[in-house]
Amino acid sequence: MAVNENLRTPIVSVMGHVDHGKTTLLDRIRGSAVADGEAGAITQHIGATEVPIENIVNKCGDPSLKDKFIVPGLLFIDTPGHHAFTSLRSRGGALADLAIVIVDINEGFMPQTIESLHILKRFKTPFVVVANKIDRIHGWEANKNLPFLATYNKQSERVRSDLDNKLYEVIGELYNIGFNSERYDRVNDFQRNIGVIPISAATGEGIADVLMILLGLAQRFLEGNLHYDAKAPGIGTVLEVKEEKGLGTTLDIILYDGIIKKGDTIVVGSLGDPIQTKIRALLKPRPLSEIKAEEKFQRVSEVTAAVGVKISAPNLDGALAGAPVRVASPDTIDAITEEIKSEIEDVQIDTDTIGITIKADTIGSLEALVNELKKEEIPIRKADVGDISNRDIVEVTAIEDPFFTVIVGFNVKILPDAKDKLQSTEVTLFLNDVIYRLIDDYKDWVKKQKE
Ligand code: GDP
Ligand code: MG
Repeated sequence: MAVNENLRTPIVSVMGHVDHGKTTLLDRIRGSAVADGEAGAITQHIGATEVPIENIVNKCGDPSLKDKFIVPGLLFIDTPGHHAFTSLRSRGGALADLAIVIVDINEGFMPQTIESLHILKRFKTPFVVVANKIDRIHGWEANKNLPFLATYNKQSERVRSDLDNKLYEVIGELYNIGFNSERYDRVNDFQRNIGVIPISAATGEGIADVLMILLGLAQRFLEGNLHYDAKAPGIGTVLEVKEEKGLGTTLDIILYDGIIKKGDTIVVGSLGDPIQTKIRALLKPRPLSEIKAEEKFQRVSEVTAAVGVKISAPNLDGALAGAPVRVASPDTIDAITEEIKSEIEDVQIDTDTIGITIKADTIGSLEALVNELKKEEIPIRKADVGDISNRDIVEVTAIEDPFFTVIVGFNVKILPDAKDKLQSTEVTLFLNDVIYRLIDDYKDWVKKQKE
């Protein structure tokens, strides 16, 4: 076996609670390659980092492993956090093919850890759990960049048993959420058991294991999802809509299928009718060595999946984070526009029926919130993307049922004039950046009102 030219790079998302080490892990994955003198091998994308297969197998000390794998490498999305994941949709479900859930082994599960696991369960995304910060275990002797078992075997018996106990707690918490798991080297069937990898993002211990297990998961479970046609019209997801000096509004996208070229016509999801526009420039980050160059970005004429790239084009105001972006031709543009429009409308809700009002920051996170509320059988009157506005408050004020004079906002702000308005109304507002917290808060509130 060898790398299969028809398979694209799997897309990996890093999720977990704040401060448990997402950024440090991504830096380590990037940085250790720089330290190994392999910086050239790592490709910096817009919003993502690509680690090629050679780099991963070298890190594991056995270049012959390369022949065992058929994927070209791994593409890590750099905007870590469960928010990113919830907004990262593709037509089939989640945009990320694989995920890492990171948990501080000394602190255990926190709300965003649990939320991440629920999201992965819903999307059936294969993932590993990394139990981070093992270097903080009392008495731990760090062995920079060693694989986990090698460093574990060098620790004292007391330290090892301390680690084992902490690991059992993680395994117990996973069980409570409905996942069977084991330390990764004891897992025989990754379809039935989640592998838990103890690591230190700070010292690099266990990082090689993480990369190997991800490759193994990609190999075993994803082959069918990774076939792509490098000549087909590109399909991607908007990561972020960003103002750039001299360029105006731009889109950072992850392209997960096909090819996209300068001059292509694209259709992008927005809150109203989808945007139709023509690509003025495709931009990638400049290599670190050229950091002093005038322009922050390097212009390229085309890119193929999987890749993170910035699109400069006219008329991008109103484009929606999490929305689809697709290359169209004169023959396909009408059909594609209709499809994108109905994809977005499927998530938005605007009815006359009674229910609560919800707002979220992206189309993907709105979809996640709607799904969870439906599971709880909480009726929704209106669901939309954006900060909470004066108009939202006014609409809700008109509702008679006191249980539904409620606005639930996920990862959004309340605009200043809406805040003033709120003071003079009976509207109750719930804001949080964890979906399960929002739902629990609302349910608790309803219970209290009924008492
Ligand atoms: P994020 O919020 O999940 O992105 O977490 P960060 O990567 O920003 O890490 C939060 C804090 O934990 C920072 O101060 C890191 O230096 C520290 N940290 C992350 N990983 C490790 C680790 O493996 N060991 C130790 N000792 N500290 C770590
Ligand atoms: Mg971070």
